[in-house]
Amino acid sequence: MSPRPALPSSVHAPLPVLGREVLVPLVTGGEVGYAALDYAASAPALQRVWDDVASYAPYYGSVHRGAGYLSQLSTDLFEQSRATVAEFLGCRPGDQVIFTRSTTDSLNLLAAAVPAGTSVFVFETEHHASLLPWRQADVTYLGAPRTPAQAVATLDRALAARALAARAADGPALVCVTGASNVTGELWPVRELAAAAHAHGARIVLDAAQLAPHHPVDIAELDVDWVAFSGHKLYAPFGSGVLAGRADWLRAAEPYLAGGGASRRVARSADGGVDVDWHTTAARHEAGSPNVIGAYAIASACRALTEAGFDLLVEREQALVARVRAGLAEVPEVRVLSLFGDDAPRVGVVSFVVEGWNSSHFAAALSAEYGIGVRDGLFCAHPLLRTLLGAADQEPGECGAPEAAPGELPDPSAGGAPTLNAIRVSFGAGTPDEHVERFVDAVRELVSDGAKWRYRTEDGRCVPDRDQA
Ligand code: PMP
Repeated sequence: MSPRPALPSSVHAPLPVLGREVLVPLVTGGEVGYAALDYAASAPALQRVWDDVASYAPYYGSVHRGAGYLSQLSTDLFEQSRATVAEFLGCRPGDQVIFTRSTTDSLNLLAAAVPAGTSVFVFETEHHASLLPWRQADVTYLGAPRTPAQAVATLDRALAARALAARAADGPALVCVTGASNVTGELWPVRELAAAAHAHGARIVLDAAQLAPHHPVDIAELDVDWVAFSGHKLYAPFGSGVLAGRADWLRAAEPYLAGGGASRRVARSADGGVDVDWHTTAARHEAGSPNVIGAYAIASACRALTEAGFDLLVEREQALVARVRAGLAEVPEVRVLSLFGDDAPRVGVVSFVVEGWNSSHFAAALSAEYGIGVRDGLFCAHPLLRTLLGAADQEPGECGAPEAAPGELPDPSAGGAPTLNAIRVSFGAGTPDEHVERFVDAVRELVSDGAKWRYRTEDGRCVPDRDQA
C-alpha cells in the first residue's frame, strides 16, 4: 500500500454542521459516528443556519400581509434574504431572485415562462430536473460529450444548424446546462457554453444544484441568463430554492401559480369573469404564503459560506477529492465513472462501481458495517448512467436501483454479481477528514475481505439479513 498523502486540515477546518455527533448502530455490534457522505442528495444543515433560524423563529410572522410588528419584521427579512442571495450570485441590476421550493421547481418555473415557440437545447447527460421540464417546448437533446471542448462544439453546431434551418433564427432559444455533474462531480465549461449560446442569440440557464454548494457562482461573470439551485444542498434544508436572472421573460409570463401574493388587483369583469392585474416583480411567481424561514435559511448559508472564505473551502474540498480518488485508485476492482477523464476539474462528488459487486449491496454494507451513508442507484440521470455504465438495456426504478427480486443477494466473493447501478460518495464544507479516511479504508476492506454480514433485497432495497443475528 502506498503512503497516504496527508490531508492539509490546516487549510480550513470543516464548517460545523448538524448531526456531527449522531451515533448509528453497526450490524456487527456497537455504534459509530455517522459519516454523512451523501451531500449531493442533501447536505446537513450548517450549525450557523440552524442557529440563525432558531434566533428568528420567535419573531416569525406572516409575510406581505400583516400590519403587526412581527409581520413587518418577517417581510423585511424575506426581502433582505432576496438581496443577500442576489449578492451571493453576483446578480446584475434588473435581475430577479425568485424563491421556489427547489432546483426542480425553479427549472419548471422557467420552462413554464419561456416564450411560445422557444427552442430548447439540453444535453442528454443532465439530471432529470434539467432534462425533463421542457417537454412542452421544441427540445433538442444533445449527445454525451467526452470532453468539455466537445460539449461547446456540440452546442455550437446544434445552434448553427438551427439558425440555418430557420433561416432568420427568429424564435427564441434557450440552453440548459449543469454546472457540476451530480454523478461524476465534473465541472462543465459554463462560461464557454454561455458564450456559444449568446453568439447564436440563445439564452442559457445554469443548473447550479451541485455547483453552488461547492464553488462560488457569479451570474454576471459566467454570463448566464439564469441560475437555479436548492437550499437543501446548500446546507439550508428548509424547503426553499432559487431561480435568479433576467426579468423580461419572467415578467411577461403567466404566473407560475395563480393566487394571492402574485396579484396586485382583482376585479369582476364585464363578461362575468375576473380581471387580474399581476405583479411584475418576483412576487408574480411566488403566489401563496412565502416560505420566509426557507428564504432566510438560504441567505444565512450564503453569508456563512462567504464569510468562511469560499476559496478556502474549495481548497479543502479539493484535498478531500484527491484523497478519495487516490484511495479508490488503489483498489483495482473499483472503476470511477467519468465523462471528461481523470484531469477534469470536479467537485466533491465521485461515483464508481466495484467489479463483482452489486452497488446496492456495497452501499448497504458501507452503511450497516461502517456507519457510512452514501447513495446507490442511477441518481436521477438515467441516460448519463447508461452511457457511463455502457448498459443500454437496464430498466431502473425511478431515481434508484433496477428492480431487484426479493431474496438473498449472491455472495460477491463467488463473483459474477451484476453491477446494475453505481455508488456515489459526496461531501463538502462540513466533512471531517476522518469520514473520508473511513470511507477509503472501508472500500478497501470490503473488496479484499468481503462483507461480514449477509444481505437481502426487501422492497427493492438491499438490507442486512435479520436472520443472521
Ligand atoms: N440538478 C442537479 C444537478 C441535481 O443534482 C439535483 C438533485 N440531485 C437537482 C437538479 C434537483 O434538485 P432538487 O431535488 O433539490 O429539486
